[in-house]
Amino acid sequence: MLFKDLGLSPEVVEAIESIGYSEATPIQEKTIPILMTGKDLTGQAQTGTGKTAAFGIPAIEHVDISINQTQSLILCPTRELALQVSTELKKLAKFKKGLRVLAVYGGESIERQIKDLKFGAHIVVGTPGRIIDHLDRRTLNASHLSQIILDEADEMLNMGFREDIELILTRLPEQRQTVLFSATLAPPILALAKRFQNNPEIIKIERKELTISTVEQFYYLVRNAQKTEIVTQIIDLNNLQLMLIFCNTKRKVEEVTDELKAYGHNPISLHGDKTQRDRTEVMNKFRKGQANILVATDVAARGIDVTGVDAVINYDVPLDIENYVHRIGRTGRAGQLGKSFTLVTNDEKYKLRDIERYTKATIEKAETPTRQELVAYKKDKLATRITTELEKPNIKIWADLLEEYKEKGITAEQIAIALLSKEMKDLAEPERRERTFEDRGDRGGRFERGGDRGGRFERGGDRGDRRDGPRRDGRSSERFGDRPAASRDRDGGERRERTPRPRTSDASMARLFVNVGRIDRISPGDIVGAFAGEANIKGSQIGQIDIFDKYSFVELPHDLVDQVMDGMRNNKIKGKSINIEISNGKQ
Ligand code: ADP
Ligand code: MG
Repeated sequence: MLFKDLGLSPEVVEAIESIGYSEATPIQEKTIPILMTGKDLTGQAQTGTGKTAAFGIPAIEHVDISINQTQSLILCPTRELALQVSTELKKLAKFKKGLRVLAVYGGESIERQIKDLKFGAHIVVGTPGRIIDHLDRRTLNASHLSQIILDEADEMLNMGFREDIELILTRLPEQRQTVLFSATLAPPILALAKRFQNNPEIIKIERKELTISTVEQFYYLVRNAQKTEIVTQIIDLNNLQLMLIFCNTKRKVEEVTDELKAYGHNPISLHGDKTQRDRTEVMNKFRKGQANILVATDVAARGIDVTGVDAVINYDVPLDIENYVHRIGRTGRAGQLGKSFTLVTNDEKYKLRDIERYTKATIEKAETPTRQELVAYKKDKLATRITTELEKPNIKIWADLLEEYKEKGITAEQIAIALLSKEMKDLAEPERRERTFEDRGDRGGRFERGGDRGGRFERGGDRGDRRDGPRRDGRSSERFGDRPAASRDRDGGERRERTPRPRTSDASMARLFVNVGRIDRISPGDIVGAFAGEANIKGSQIGQIDIFDKYSFVELPHDLVDQVMDGMRNNKIKGKSINIEISNGKQ
């Protein structure tokens, strides 16, 4: 249905045209006409279906601009969402001369908000806590409020805003329109509706439409210690440009952000403990593409709408099934295609099944890439870069250098090989790759034996497949939901994954991640010296040391780990502050 057939004002129709929406989405089509009559309504639709405009357009039409009073109040669970909703409303009200929309939320100077409120705002979008604050201070005058809208009502209840919301609702004039929008209609929402709404219309989108058809969903079976490395592989092999990575805790968000930096990425992080200034800055950076990876908790990313997010990575399986839908809804928006990748450990497999049952979607199993695939991928990418480089006109200035080498008896071919080796250095360290893949049962083993290297790759992967997306497992029987769990467990491949080999070369040893590497000019001797000197252990107690460019791994008997971590706290190696983490999944 077209917007102009929904009985909207010409100004709003013009604004919608200038934004570029051609047709109303189903939730908009169903709810806008009802909301325009002033009736109470509870609406449920999946994430990414345009709920903001569904309530935003009627809110704009509801306002009488000639009365300089707040007439519509919109509550949102987070600051980011309040900002986003107010921004969208401002766009929709672009041609409504004099209509003012104001966002108020905690973390921002209240004085400034008081000034803005005094000046007058027809529509106020805010978080519950700050709205109560303004009601208490009488800086928000509720006497003309004739419409209240709760966006993401279920999430606000989940976040513990129930009392705040009830308090706000009881303070508003009785004569008003009360609107709830929610991704689910869980009992607490219905209870809220019953208590505060007057004969509401309930508009529902059935469960089976809940997941987003524009998102291709994959999962990887991994061990905790592999997760960050697998994430970097997912990014590489899918050529991801803009992505969100979700973790379940703030701590994990920070950890993953640091680890990705160690891998040479440029991530930014978002969670509830950040100051408002930081949060706004982070979102701006992400929106402008100044950072292409946003690592976040659920709370921080709720409802966030950034165009062009090509993938969502669930570093942790969400604790709440609902959040799975919300997370992956950050990609595949507005008709674009997106991908989601969920990292699942063996004991979380049941959660994945629950998600599939709930969303009625198939989450396809993807295999972690083999070393051969990574090499082939990097070769490909490098070849393209070389070709591009060769086409550049001023490339000749380097010819002198070649001449100099020639005089020393070094051939152009030798130089080329040296440069290639430098370029591919990540992959020139079989040690590291073996460790990554040894968890994967047969394939890791095969790789170590070396005999039939590449066999798997030749069978499994034509190159096009690789670039289009993760390699599918191919065995449809592996998909969850296809057959009951019991029969799956008898599957040989699955059983192998249940008895992974120890990650370290010696099970009695812990593997520590140390944030110094070759670029810090670290040698094994430096690490032994520091550990022995500062933590008072014997050099001979230290096991294998693997030094990579930006970090190193050090094996240590489990019972010495605490001593070393204590001893090294606030210490430096070669002038660099040391951060040590246990990396073998035992944390
Ligand atoms: P929800 O709140 O349901 O998760 P949003 O309101 O954030 O969804 O909208 C999701 C995306 O769809 C936004 O980028 C929005 O601009 C876009 N959108 C909304 N309505 C339409 C429409 N009628 N046609 C095309 N795109 C739309
Ligand atoms: Mg929304």
